[in-house]
Amino acid sequence: MTDARYLVHGVFWDGPPPAAGHDAGRAALRLQDPSGGFTEVALDAGTRLGFRLASPGKHCLGHHKVHGPADRDHLVCPDRAPAARGSQCGPCFAVDDSRLIHDFHRGGRVPSGLRSYLMQPHWLYIATFAHGASKVGTASQLRKWHRLAEQGAVVARYVARAGDGRVVRVLEDLVTSDAGLPQQVRSAAKAAGLTAPAAAAELDGLNGRLAAEVRTLLAGAGGEGFDVVDERWQRPGLADAACTPAARHAYPHDLGADAHGFTVSSLSGSIALAWLDGADLDFVVNLGALKGRVIELGDHGSEVPAVQESLF
Ligand SMILES: [Zn+2]
Repeated sequence: MTDARYLVHGVFWDGPPPAAGHDAGRAALRLQDPSGGFTEVALDAGTRLGFRLASPGKHCLGHHKVHGPADRDHLVCPDRAPAARGSQCGPCFAVDDSRLIHDFHRGGRVPSGLRSYLMQPHWLYIATFAHGASKVGTASQLRKWHRLAEQGAVVARYVARAGDGRVVRVLEDLVTSDAGLPQQVRSAAKAAGLTAPAAAAELDGLNGRLAAEVRTLLAGAGGEGFDVVDERWQRPGLADAACTPAARHAYPHDLGADAHGFTVSSLSGSIALAWLDGADLDFVVNLGALKGRVIELGDHGSEVPAVQESLF
């Protein structure tokens, strides 16, 4: 795997969800080789990750065509262009099916494959992150568990099951307008929260109160095509250490340049808890910052910063 240049697509949680009695949540860093093929580096407790940035800036990740609930194709960026809008170039952004998802419930037209994806049952959830910021969001039936694992929720509850992806987005907008819950929490805010996570009981209490408030709102909203539910999301065991209050530091180096190496001990969404060689300290590393970067894997290590001991 050395010397090859990979375009980083990000951290994905695609394994089977945790089942009763065992935790099978699995995460991986997904990499695309120059021919367009994909390879994955499994991210487990103890995974050593070493890499060097091989090209400046962020690059387009291509786009997706959706054919059905579990069937989609990835198309490589034909121009290998720099990323201009999020993780895509302008032309790839313009033809990406997922862009249309957000207009579907407002009457937008969608291709038939995307329509069959959107017509599967969807779940509405309330997620709370390490610093107490909370959001409302949606997950398709097939991604019910995975969506929250990728988000890096510390605590989450499902509050409604909707018959399709149109109804669930109408409910999501209602929760934002009437309960004031945002639909996004930025990844940098999640990473900052993980440097000083709030106590588990506090976050669970907050999430439980917000979910109850939203259930009451939905029950009184009328309308058809959904049921109010009360169901906890099960956090993957790999995220437990990251979500537990402890003294730790923000990773001090810019992942957009130079070489890096560390050992992952825990992972919440795309954000790792990691230790550096020669330092007995935990660092919070936002691996989401690697999305769209070109890296070469190798035996690299990150410099240990001089860290104030005042936290201890
Ligand atoms: Zn492109």
